[in-house]
Amino acid sequence: MSFFRVAVLLAALTGLFLTVGYLIGGPGGMIIALLIALGMNVFAYWNSDKVVLSMHGAREVTEREAPEFVGLVRQLARRADLPMPKVYIINTSQPNAFATGRNPKNAAVAATTGLLNMMSREEVAGVMAHELAHVKHRDTLTMTITATIAGAIGMLANFAFFFGGNRESPLGIIGVILVAILAPIAAMVVQMAISRHNEYGADAEGARIAGNPEWLASALEKLERGAKSIDNHAAERNPATAHLFIVNPLHAHKHDSLFSTHPATANRVRALRQMVAHGGAGGVAQPMAPGGSGAAASAAASRIPASGRAPGRRGRRGPWG
Ligand SMILES: [Zn+2]
Repeated sequence: MSFFRVAVLLAALTGLFLTVGYLIGGPGGMIIALLIALGMNVFAYWNSDKVVLSMHGAREVTEREAPEFVGLVRQLARRADLPMPKVYIINTSQPNAFATGRNPKNAAVAATTGLLNMMSREEVAGVMAHELAHVKHRDTLTMTITATIAGAIGMLANFAFFFGGNRESPLGIIGVILVAILAPIAAMVVQMAISRHNEYGADAEGARIAGNPEWLASALEKLERGAKSIDNHAAERNPATAHLFIVNPLHAHKHDSLFSTHPATANRVRALRQMVAHGGAGGVAQPMAPGGSGAAASAAASRIPASGRAPGRRGRRGPWG
């Protein structure tokens, strides 16, 4: 995504943040929101990757701890002509993955234990190539900063319920409540506009990096089924980060598909299979050899260690949990 588009986008989100500040707290509220927005944009540039990774309980792994997985990412990064990113594992049984970081030199890719246990080595390669494509396209900076600001808009909207009676507000209590409901939706629409477009681009570039579009196509089908049936508690608590993931980690019944941050998986799979039909991955002569043959390779992928705690033992959390 071009620098200009990034700037326009961040300005739009910051503008929305200021408007919400004004509507809730009057001119004083807007100045406070402006100061917060300035500080937040600077903070997000340097730290939003760390914030997002810690929100999802991601743990950095070394080549020694997860040789298969880290080795695979290294191989893909070389094919993509990118520096080696930091590699993280998230301990949740929902299959999913995301990339973050302000530039390719400071990038991180993360996959869940559910993804590593459920997919073949080829499918893991397809997914991680998609994530590296985001790094290559520099989507990760926009997507991570967007998540931070949209999250703050959501937070401000929550405050509105507590400070709704503020006399500074140009709106009545009903107006404040309306803003509290509408602002997060508006933030989501902005996020949606970027991320849908970015997903198709990363699918195509990822297929070129891995050398075989079918690997990602088949992974997306499994991801879609897995993400729909298995909860991701960290994502439910931080819905503003949902668009970072390769498939929506939130459940379809909770979030109207009208406001979906992700294009329909079926459309993405169709686009990838068209790449197969039209002669390989457009430009890459040969697919990578992800190592080993069929069964042995899948067994290797599933040997990637999970971290200590058993997934899914914590039980369901309430809305305030
Ligand atoms: Zn993506």
